[in-house]
Amino acid sequence: MKIKIICLLICTLFLASIFIGTTNAKNLVSIDMNITDSNVDMRGNRDLIKIIDEDVICDLDNDFVVYENRTILNIYDIKTGETENVYVGGDIVFPKISENRVVYYDYKYMGFKMYNINTSEKTDLIVTNWPGGDSDDFQFSGNYIIYENTDSGLYNTEIFLYNITTGENIQLTDSPGEDFPENPCIYKNIVAWQLTEGNIADIVMYNIDSKKYTRVTNTSQFESETFPSIYGNNIVYSYLYYDKVNGTILYGLKMYNITTGDETTILKAEEPTGSTPEIFDNIIAYSEVGVSLRLYDLRTNYDISIYEGDMLAYPWNLNEHYVLFTIVKDGVYLYKYNNPPNPPEINGPDSGKPGIEYEYTFNSTDLNEDPVMYFIDWGDNTSEWTEYSDSGKEIMLKHNWTKKGDYTIKAKAKDVYGAESNWSEFKVTIPRTKTTTYLLFHWLFQRFPLLERLLSLFRII
Ligand code: CA
Repeated sequence: MKIKIICLLICTLFLASIFIGTTNAKNLVSIDMNITDSNVDMRGNRDLIKIIDEDVICDLDNDFVVYENRTILNIYDIKTGETENVYVGGDIVFPKISENRVVYYDYKYMGFKMYNINTSEKTDLIVTNWPGGDSDDFQFSGNYIIYENTDSGLYNTEIFLYNITTGENIQLTDSPGEDFPENPCIYKNIVAWQLTEGNIADIVMYNIDSKKYTRVTNTSQFESETFPSIYGNNIVYSYLYYDKVNGTILYGLKMYNITTGDETTILKAEEPTGSTPEIFDNIIAYSEVGVSLRLYDLRTNYDISIYEGDMLAYPWNLNEHYVLFTIVKDGVYLYKYNNPPNPPEINGPDSGKPGIEYEYTFNSTDLNEDPVMYFIDWGDNTSEWTEYSDSGKEIMLKHNWTKKGDYTIKAKAKDVYGAESNWSEFKVTIPRTKTTTYLLFHWLFQRFPLLERLLSLFRII
């Protein structure tokens, strides 16, 4: 099994190659080194699970991690901690999971095959005659396999899209000369890849439904964007900028919004960082080459290290709870990351009288089911923190406003690891005109019941 080890040396080679014109970011060197124990950082006190003692390349989705052992497809169930070993035959590599289906390449079949975890059904998919390469040369999501392959006898690699349901296979790129696309990724109907042209690379996006191509980055000859990853509306990628005037190099992470077309810089540094990002929801896992594997939370801008050391193997994977990563000569780890709670739902009367106590409820859910506490700003220069309560459990607080006015209750939730939600707001009027009118009618109707019937006949109330 070929594992690409990322280290400073490789980065230096990569950098050098970019500027001397021998670019091929895929050709990361495998280095065989003896190491002692990995220094795995359990910051945040989250669960860290070592699932295998071998440094295999794995993939992750929902409750399952998949990896192979030539003729065996191994399916690790995160919930039970048990591994199912499925004999599939052939000579398989790089199984990828999407929901309950696993797709892998079989060198004997010279094509893709599929295994359904629920039904145990095995299906032969397309024969591609792929000459072999890296685990990130294809991705599988939903009904699609997006893959790199050589273009009918030519040296060039091109990107192909295979529809599992219809069997349709489309060649998406036809790159001239020495330009070549690589590192494809997919999320729902959006595909993206890195187009390497001479010394630099840009990101290209393709919409499966509209069949439209978009050049996501098209920057100066001194900036290179690589290793795209998509989730929802966002495509993240590494970038490298060579500042010729100052003779410096900047590294980092950028993100492209598919809807607005806006590009934002997430990380910028003079030391290598933001390498080979993977995004899931609001979490980006990226490496500081040879130093650490880090998580960046787009909501909170938290940026933490989850592994420190130079034996990290690419790729890593994310789902809504875990980061899956492989440490060379050590094994495969699942890191359970922390999500901040959702903004609290606020309920209670939206109007009232001064000096009267009213009841308000606050409820926030934490994806990790961590206990949460609430901060409430009542809008009248008073505020309070509550005690911790269970995620998703409604809590009730009383408040009275002493003066007339329009107030905004603002609340946020914080979990036991210190991750805070965004604010929620709830507007209250003390007193509210409508309430006064309502109270007046209520008083009148109690005394003159005929009036209510009369008014309702004329649809006045
Ligand atoms: Ca949490």
